[in-house]
Amino acid sequence: MTVRVRIAPSPTGNLHIGTARTALFNWLYAKHNHGEFILRIEDTDQERSQDQYTQNILEGLKWLGIDYDSGPFFQTQRLEQYRAAVHLLLDQGLAYYCYCSEAELEQMREEQKAKKQAPRYDNRHRHLTKQQRTEFANAGRKPVIRFVIEEPRELTWLDLVRGDVTWNTRDLGGDIVIARVDDQGQVSLPLYNFAVVIDDIAMEITHVIRGEDHIANTAKQILIYEALGAEIPKFSHLPLILNAQGAKISKRDGATSVFEFQQMGYVPEAFNNYMVLLGWSDPNGREIFSPSEVAEVFEFERVNKSGARFDWDKLNWINSQYLHNMDPEILCDRLIPFWQAAGFNPNFERNWLIDLVKLIAPSLTVLTDAVDMARYLFIDNLEYTEEAIAILKAESVKPILIALAQALKDTPTLTPDSASSLIQSIAKSLNLKKGAIMKPLRCALSGDIHGPDLISSLLLLAQRGVAVTRIETALEIN
Ligand code: GLU
Repeated sequence: MTVRVRIAPSPTGNLHIGTARTALFNWLYAKHNHGEFILRIEDTDQERSQDQYTQNILEGLKWLGIDYDSGPFFQTQRLEQYRAAVHLLLDQGLAYYCYCSEAELEQMREEQKAKKQAPRYDNRHRHLTKQQRTEFANAGRKPVIRFVIEEPRELTWLDLVRGDVTWNTRDLGGDIVIARVDDQGQVSLPLYNFAVVIDDIAMEITHVIRGEDHIANTAKQILIYEALGAEIPKFSHLPLILNAQGAKISKRDGATSVFEFQQMGYVPEAFNNYMVLLGWSDPNGREIFSPSEVAEVFEFERVNKSGARFDWDKLNWINSQYLHNMDPEILCDRLIPFWQAAGFNPNFERNWLIDLVKLIAPSLTVLTDAVDMARYLFIDNLEYTEEAIAILKAESVKPILIALAQALKDTPTLTPDSASSLIQSIAKSLNLKKGAIMKPLRCALSGDIHGPDLISSLLLLAQRGVAVTRIETALEIN
């Protein structure tokens, strides 16, 4: 049997970290079993679905490198199949037209609430006669199609993550709506629980891997598989992603869409690595790994049942590991868009940019850190911190800066060695410690008392031809 899995996002928002994590786990399981991974866009909620979200989902998966073997398939292009299946159930008496009005349903809910009962549809239109149906239709009522939920019944299935899961059909809220009917009386849009089953059957899905929030849906879906006489796939429900307080992660926790993480400067390799750890642990105890490495050993036995806490420190640590070890050429290409977005003009020589990347890479946690770190190297008009101004204003600093400017003019090709010895000889001639030269030099070059390695900064600015100018500008501060 070929393993066939799918991710089935609804385009009602940008690609969410929960969906991305589910996609990744599906991908891992498919790869581990040399199976197939399918992308299906569940766009039947016409009020909430938007093309821009479909695009965002496709781009997000691409950015993460989560590739699929077939799709994207769109549910709105498969309405005929759903219609046929609805008629099959109607013909067998396993589904029926329900003409309840919104007001009636509302009243039903109110009465249940008053009796402190859980809200449910009381199946009142399950056995309407043909004549009653005609009367409702003639009265202008618009029906929906409901699926008959046989109850009470204990339904048990083996969840590959959670073991045996039991659900009593009495707790499913009564007969469920599976499709709407249009103004011409034709079956039109299907609802999620129905369309998902029709598609999973048609696409020969062997394993349904999705978030734990779908467990109650699984019970409903199994009943639909049974009604259609179809083979029931295996189910794996992944733990929810929780915030630090143990609640389901939400926008208020900083970020939830993959696009936001991308903008914050996380790289896809690190983000995938981190998402794997949201619910899975490596049998070999590794924490840094590529999806392909994980795919080799991926099993549901290593997926946690309890919620996965989102941990920013961990994500940052993982991201920094990837940035510190990234090929400078690749890192440079990743950084350029962030520098451009900050208004810098990174059209300098490639070698210069690579040297800059090597200089700052060991200090990066996220790509966006590179904006502030490299600002002094890109901009033309340096800004100074108060501490830097205080240092540069001191009379005792002027002769140091004059000597530095002169020495730099006298050294046409600066190397790390010649730059070091230049500083050393100025210290000697002014009878000062090396540190007393380095500090004002740093302030003059970067406008700050802290920053990346000074000699490398000096070389980069000298290559841009602005080192001497910076020192001369600093001399004017008083
Ligand atoms: N469209 C559903 C969602 O986005 C799919 C759930 C499933 O995988 O069945 O939650």
